[in-house]
Amino acid sequence: MKLIFVGPPGGGKGTQARLLQARRAIPQIATGDILREAIAQDTALGRDARRSMEAGELVPDAVMIAIVEERLRRSDGHEGFVLDGFPRTVPQAEALEETLNRMQRRIDRVVDFQIREEILIRRLSGRRVCQVGGHIYHLAYQPPREAGLCDIDHSPLYQRDDDRPEAIRRRMEVYQVETLPVLDFYQARSVYAALDAEGEVEEVYDRLLAVVNRR
Ligand code: ADP
Ligand code: AMP
Repeated sequence: MKLIFVGPPGGGKGTQARLLQARRAIPQIATGDILREAIAQDTALGRDARRSMEAGELVPDAVMIAIVEERLRRSDGHEGFVLDGFPRTVPQAEALEETLNRMQRRIDRVVDFQIREEILIRRLSGRRVCQVGGHIYHLAYQPPREAGLCDIDHSPLYQRDDDRPEAIRRRMEVYQVETLPVLDFYQARSVYAALDAEGEVEEVYDRLLAVVNRR
């Protein structure tokens, strides 16, 4: 299965991609996670990307396209993947199409996470992430067993810099302007599928499986 998750910040893409990875062994390629790791390790990429990310802006297309191409080339040709958070612009979608064509691979489904903005704000402001593995929690909706600590690797949970109100607002705008056109791009290619991303995690997961398995 080769899937793309498109949706607004806080839509639940990471949460669902991690479930698919754990339960269906479909590897998650999350460009936001890759960037956060680069920042944590203070690499050149991390130093370049940090300011845009904190402000809720996108990292330049050329940088993101190179990262994803490299990651796809590294994976063996038969395994599937979930691209989570890429493509976020039409030029990224076009570049991805070219790369996959060259590799003679095709996307099976592009899932559009649909959710109302007021719910997104609540999800984003309560989000906490684990420092070691990027595991995703929510203070109210997905609390860890022990406050402030990851269930899986017991590392401290932190709040992302871009989950503060000003950056949230900017990310919503960027989504509307830069990323919504990506959905039109895929609608024209008939791999598009809408997903109702409201409701509880397991409920959304069931709907996701139905959408992914539909012929
Ligand atoms: P995205 O990757 O789309 O930005 P996340 O998967 O990180 O979104 O989810 C954003 C926040 O919302 C996290 O704190 C997560 O725990 C929480 N969350 C995800 N899915 C749901 C859901 N179905 N119901 C309630 N909270 C959710
Ligand atoms: P995410 O974890 O998907 O919410 O991404 C966090 C931030 O990383 C975004 O707000 C952008 O600054 C950056 N980012 C992640 N993926 C991309 C992408 N495909 N294109 C540009 N910037 C990205």
